Amino acid sequence: MHLSEVQIHPTPLERFEPLIGPERAAKLYAAAELARRVLAGRVVFIVNSTAMGGGVAEMLQPLLAYSRGAGIDVRWLVIQGNEEFFRITKRVHNHFHGDAGDGGPLGASERATYEAVLRDNALEFAALLSPRDVVLLHDPQTAGLIPLLRRSGAVVVWRSHVGTELWNDYVRSAWSFIRPYIEEAEAVILTRSAYAPDWLRRYVVIPPSIDPFSVKNAPMDERTVRSILYRVGILRGRPEVPAVFSHRDGTPGRIDHCADLLRAGPPPSADVPLIVQVSRWDRLKDMVGVMHGFARRAAALGNAHLALVGPNVSGVSDDPEGALVLDECTAAWRALPHAIRQRIQLVCLPMLDRDENAAIVNALQRHAAVVVQKSLAEGFGLTVAEAMWKSRPVIGSAVGGIEEQLVEGESGLLIAPPTDLDGFGAALERLISDRAFAERLGQNAHQRVLEFFLGSRHLIQYGELFARLEHPLVAPESAAAP
Ligand code: UDP
Repeated sequence: MHLSEVQIHPTPLERFEPLIGPERAAKLYAAAELARRVLAGRVVFIVNSTAMGGGVAEMLQPLLAYSRGAGIDVRWLVIQGNEEFFRITKRVHNHFHGDAGDGGPLGASERATYEAVLRDNALEFAALLSPRDVVLLHDPQTAGLIPLLRRSGAVVVWRSHVGTELWNDYVRSAWSFIRPYIEEAEAVILTRSAYAPDWLRRYVVIPPSIDPFSVKNAPMDERTVRSILYRVGILRGRPEVPAVFSHRDGTPGRIDHCADLLRAGPPPSADVPLIVQVSRWDRLKDMVGVMHGFARRAAALGNAHLALVGPNVSGVSDDPEGALVLDECTAAWRALPHAIRQRIQLVCLPMLDRDENAAIVNALQRHAAVVVQKSLAEGFGLTVAEAMWKSRPVIGSAVGGIEEQLVEGESGLLIAPPTDLDGFGAALERLISDRAFAERLGQNAHQRVLEFFLGSRHLIQYGELFARLEHPLVAPESAAAP
């Protein structure tokens, strides 16, 4: 079995209207109408490499649900690969961010493995495809499908969620690896124009977005927030109300699984300021750097605690490095003095039910006194947008998409360079000690997401792109995000 299909529950576009107002909603409905006309009788296949874990899966779920709600026959397929395939694609991913990854090569033998796995996937795909169907492939893992699927007469678009503006030989080697495939795509979508290689002449820029109604971002009252965190073991206390949430399809859900926790002593109580970074266990998220930055400044941070939070490492199938990075974090934590260790917990969240996982992340982000995303590279930080939406003060590194998401001193604080642990510690201290400033940043952050980073804007851009697909692509400057 090489391809799996993920279920999509239709969601009406009208949900956005109370948030974005009638004028923007009218634009959204017009884009949907246009897309329905252009895509009538065609299937839009969305393809990526995991149904769960990481930003792409997170974003696809609601966007596809709204597309279905808008009457588009959209289907979500997940490619399957072996361990060797995902080791290679993880290497490509790391190279895209300027990093050596596991240090291995991207040569002819890696290309052969990569292509063989995708050929198997394409064979199964061919049975589903009709000429003129649209295929939207996500990220380097799927790029090798482009020439194979175009042979079936499909319109194939490739979207990259990765990239960096800081070019080096690794970045160039990643682009060279996928260049022969993406040159055959009908359209290429990037998160920022700074990520485009100079040989890529035509592309469209569409920044990512979050869904304000998802389990991850939906409103949650304070008592439920605390009760969820008591229930999973991150905070000390007894649930005040049932630790429940609503699944994406509206059915009730309950937090049944606890987190895997590494901590010295009891959990902090709810009145202790909690600094939180939620990420995959990936070196580029620099969890160890966050730990060291906090540890250096711990004395000045009062009684604040730090929670470094990621998925249970067996839960993200396309990310083979997770367990290793978690081990590195554990070793770094063990090396800290006991008094500091008591204020830092490593948390692995249950991944058996992605809505349960999302509800816990929602509670954590809402409870956090400060949310951190100290990535060394980041195409776009969904966690940053999620925390901003929840009016949290965010500290992010001044890299990649985060630089455009946070306006320094207005809607968040930026760390430059991202390895500046003293700068990071000072930013933490500022937000923990000046709560009025932190509050102001949080309010502005919410407004910024409302304006630029909701799914409604994203859907309008997709609608417009699909309407243009069989015409020559526009030049990048006229395709920039609104
Ligand atoms: N995430 C999650 N559970 C976890 C860890 C991460 O739901 O245990 C989510 C997080 O909330 C965000 C996404 O995974 O929605 C990560 O996206 P981001 O763009 O920050 O980074 P990526 O993983 O795509 O590099």
